[in-house]
Amino acid sequence: MTALADILRRQIAAQGPITVAEYMAQCLLHPRHGYYITRDPLGQAGDFTTAPEISQMFGELLGLLIAQVWMDQGASARFALAELGPGRGTLMADILRATARVPGFHAGAELHLVEASPVLRAAQAQRVPGAVWHDTSDSLPEDCPLFVVANEFFDALPIRQFLRHPKGWVERVVGLEGDKLAFGLTPPAPLSGLDHQLDGTPEGSMVETCAPALPIIDAISTRIQRHGGFAIIIDYGDWGSTGDTLQAIWRQQKDHPLANPGEADLTAHVDFRALAEASPLAATPLTSQGALLAQLGIAQRAQVLAQGLTGAALESHLAAYRRLTDAAEMGQLFKALGLYPVGAPQPPGFGQVT
Ligand code: SAH
Repeated sequence: MTALADILRRQIAAQGPITVAEYMAQCLLHPRHGYYITRDPLGQAGDFTTAPEISQMFGELLGLLIAQVWMDQGASARFALAELGPGRGTLMADILRATARVPGFHAGAELHLVEASPVLRAAQAQRVPGAVWHDTSDSLPEDCPLFVVANEFFDALPIRQFLRHPKGWVERVVGLEGDKLAFGLTPPAPLSGLDHQLDGTPEGSMVETCAPALPIIDAISTRIQRHGGFAIIIDYGDWGSTGDTLQAIWRQQKDHPLANPGEADLTAHVDFRALAEASPLAATPLTSQGALLAQLGIAQRAQVLAQGLTGAALESHLAAYRRLTDAAEMGQLFKALGLYPVGAPQPPGFGQVT
């Protein structure tokens, strides 16, 4: 049993069951035993890998996209370039390398990283020198345009899960069965926040909500609406909530979400519709990662890089290209949403759902 499982069991025995969101928050960010607090989970030796870790092309194309939007909005002399949950700093480093020759971009960019994990902050400091770190989005600059990227960040935010019941909703909670953590259900109750989902949700179906996403969307939207800028959010998920998507990965394998608290990664699919509707900004069409990268020119970039490679290096480059773009791999499952000021030009690259 993990150290955190023991802490949670005692807490639940004393105070009763906790919501899935409380469970997820403790598992990921408990100050001593949280998954992200105690390790770097990324890369070959870690539990999972992400698009920027698979290929430099991902960050390069997003960097050029951000620079294009910055130019389309007037190339302001000073702006904040921010990332939420930057992992090892690989994505930001690739963005910076790809934009090095865009006139005025580096001179105007102030780098801001929102990161909860001390281990990952240390990794980021090596790849992104000169950045300013933040615990939350609330302290991002408020006096200049803001360009934000968030890859596989929103999926790590705690969700609550509700089952449609004839008498309203029941909430899935984490309690005890004997001395083991086990899922349970609260008694049915009406829930005004989910009224709009009542008709569209068949009995027994699950709806997930992600309350911590809302103040983040609010903080970045207010700044972008006031001074300009752009947010790009990439994650697995869909337009709307699609049932039980809570998932645990432990040592690169799917795991039961309650089996290894603090040792397994926990994520949930992102409801992009909830994010877009929480923002006063204009939203791009939700676009699959494969389609976005194709429209940003990944095939051409892959060809250029391939020219310098042979043998195993070429094979692995081509495999990375397929992994990012193929519908059967990340191309279709991962989606991208752009948020930009009402009245500003629509960012390029979006617009095709499949
Ligand atoms: N974007 C990176 C890493 C994704 S993993 C990549 O694509 O490789 C999720 C990242 O979000 C990690 O850096 C993790 O420490 C951070 N994170 C998770 N929850 C967070 C929170 N509530 N506040 C700030 N950072 C968080």
